[in-house]
Amino acid sequence: MQGYKNKSLTSKEFSLIEELVEWGSKIKDIMWIVGLPKTELYAKQYYKRMGIRPPNGLPGTSTAKTVKLEKKMQYSAMAVQYLNLLDDGIGKKEAMLSVYRLHWIEYGHDEIQNVKPSTWFSTTKNIDCGIEDLISCLTCGGKYILGADVIQEVSDRCIWCNHLLTFHSFKKTIKKGVFIQK
Ligand SMILES: [Zn+2]
Repeated sequence: MQGYKNKSLTSKEFSLIEELVEWGSKIKDIMWIVGLPKTELYAKQYYKRMGIRPPNGLPGTSTAKTVKLEKKMQYSAMAVQYLNLLDDGIGKKEAMLSVYRLHWIEYGHDEIQNVKPSTWFSTTKNIDCGIEDLISCLTCGGKYILGADVIQEVSDRCIWCNHLLTFHSFKKTIKKGVFIQK
């Protein structure tokens, strides 16, 4: 009966859901990515089969002060790859997934380096709509992600070369949670 209920998903979608579950994606993200009925049901079933509880809660941000340096480096390197793929004409979701897929293969089981899929997914969305920007360090040229709502401190240092960072002025500013075009 379960097979019948899931009939609307193709084998390609089934394997995508399984992959997303193996990464530890939130059900909400899986539903958004696959975008078809039965997605939620199958994702939950697959989590159960894996014997893992699906994560939930609010999406994290890669630019929070609490995010460790190694992970910040990963997010920034991934954002560079993501924007390169968009430049090559790859669609946003596809680019977002391929970047995470590569990250997972290399760092999926590396506790220090691996980053959460949900935070990565929201990072790409934040970059797309300008809440976060990929900035170049003026000293080493290394790229790092900066959030428009993150208060920059004079003591902030580049994640790559450790030099002090310059202040960045965003195209958009946040006021009480509302974006205002400057
Ligand atoms: Zn630097």
